Amino acid sequence: MGEQGGKRGPCNRAETTKRDREVYLVGMTDRTLFQKIHAREIPARFVYEDDLVFAIHDIDPKAPFHCLIIPVKPIPSLAAVTPEDAEILAAILLASRKIAKENGLAQGWRIVNNVGLHGGQTVAHLHFHLLGGRHMGWPPG
Ligand code: AMP
Repeated sequence: MGEQGGKRGPCNRAETTKRDREVYLVGMTDRTLFQKIHAREIPARFVYEDDLVFAIHDIDPKAPFHCLIIPVKPIPSLAAVTPEDAEILAAILLASRKIAKENGLAQGWRIVNNVGLHGGQTVAHLHFHLLGGRHMGWPPG
């Protein structure tokens, strides 16, 4: 069925149709975008790095401060984590606290994790958005 009409895929929203093909294609080649950034093959502004996780400024920031906290291990999404990844998940949350503190977010911040198509995930390598520097609205879109 064509992209412009008829059946549109699982969530039946026109604006997601073109994106459906992009979601999960990014990062599903040999290595993910974030693996290439971690290897310094693609430029990014690093905010934080340790053995398990790293953080970069988002290329399209949605707040005065917006970084992505990413495990070195290319786990596709939160839906794919296993109990063996518990240390990595803890490292992400601990890094978020450290990054917030070092970047003047004492008044608060928000962590967002998009999972899958309905969650709005576009890069298939687990990452948590850390947003701050303004008052966040609720509920999220
Ligand atoms: P999500 O839509 O939750 O999968 O988040 C992916 C995020 O990666 C988006 O906020 C993008 O702006 C961001 N992004 C995509 N490419 C890059 C890049 N090369 N450097 C930094 N951030 C990126």
